[in-house]
Amino acid sequence: MKQGTKQLYFDNPYQVEFKAHIIGREKHEQGPILILDQTCFYPESGGQPADKGRINGVEVLDVLEKDAKILHVMQSEVESDEVNGVIEWETRFDHMQQHSGQHILSQCFDTLFDAKTLSFRLGLRASTVEIDKRDIMEDEVEKVETLANEIVFQDEEICTYITPEEMIEKVPLRKPPQKKGHIRVVQISDFDYSACGGTHPNKTGEIGLIKILKWERIRNNLRFEFVCGRRALVDYGVKNRIIREVAVKFNVGEGELVGSIDKMIAELKDHRRRLRKAQEKILDIEAQEIMRNAEGDVIKEIFADRPPDEMRILALTIIRSGKYIVLFGTDLQDRVHVVLACSESLERDMRDLIPVVSPLIGGKGGGRPTLVEIAGQKAENLKLALDKASEFLGI
Ligand SMILES: [Zn+2]
Repeated sequence: MKQGTKQLYFDNPYQVEFKAHIIGREKHEQGPILILDQTCFYPESGGQPADKGRINGVEVLDVLEKDAKILHVMQSEVESDEVNGVIEWETRFDHMQQHSGQHILSQCFDTLFDAKTLSFRLGLRASTVEIDKRDIMEDEVEKVETLANEIVFQDEEICTYITPEEMIEKVPLRKPPQKKGHIRVVQISDFDYSACGGTHPNKTGEIGLIKILKWERIRNNLRFEFVCGRRALVDYGVKNRIIREVAVKFNVGEGELVGSIDKMIAELKDHRRRLRKAQEKILDIEAQEIMRNAEGDVIKEIFADRPPDEMRILALTIIRSGKYIVLFGTDLQDRVHVVLACSESLERDMRDLIPVVSPLIGGKGGGRPTLVEIAGQKAENLKLALDKASEFLGI
């Protein structure tokens, strides 16, 4: 049997430096691969990402596990057969905090709701656990957090040991092991027993605060996003700053923020409604004036920078007030908009004008027999387009 790699992180997850012999070299699309007789580098496994670091000063891009060997994907070739490796402690410790936090959270869901953990993913910013549970209330989530953090505050011991397969039934594992043979158990006091090959601290106090950020329904389960330790501290800092800044803008205490925002939204809605009513009144007065000043039943006008919906309301008011043909256009700086409308009793189809007007203003349009709208770009042809429309209509 070929020699495997001794996984130093199993015995001591705090070890960051090591010496090793190269026992194999392979090629990978990302770079050369080194296989060592022993390593501190944890390969991506069980939801926990690979460690980062350097071997003989060369960056380790990825770490994989294959047939009891640990494969180090290197940035470039390492010449010497004896090497010094060093892993990035900050990343390792972060992974230890998140992964151990997950074990505790999973056991909390199990203890409180008999809900099993289906999957775990340690992400770059937050981690997720998928739990076999359909619904959860806010206060139930709080219960999970309270229990989880109690385990942290009690600074319980975390120990790891290998158990032969035939003895594993005696260990009250939260979840049956996925592997056969010798099973590595991660035990948190008498609270949680997990079959796991991950890196974990010696005491739960090192995990720091465990915080659930949010949850969502996925398939028929719930997926919880959470952060632990330093990540929780960073997250708290960001959110605290946002809340402080918003509270200053509203000139209220943090506890009154939601009420203030609700009040502002209600006021805004009310203002919008009043504004719309006032606009309708003004447009109605304007429509009456246009009709009074009209010579005949054709009303042609080009507005400067007029919102298209105002033009549409004006046109509709006019065509509903008598027998009129309305040809409106507006120059909106970077574009133009045309509204062509006629009273129903005239029995004309304004859609016939689309192929006449559209090419002139470089646009596209559509509508119904009594009203069409065309949006285009060529402001210089706006007058010409309306003239051609009148010509086409024979008016
Ligand atoms: Zn684990």
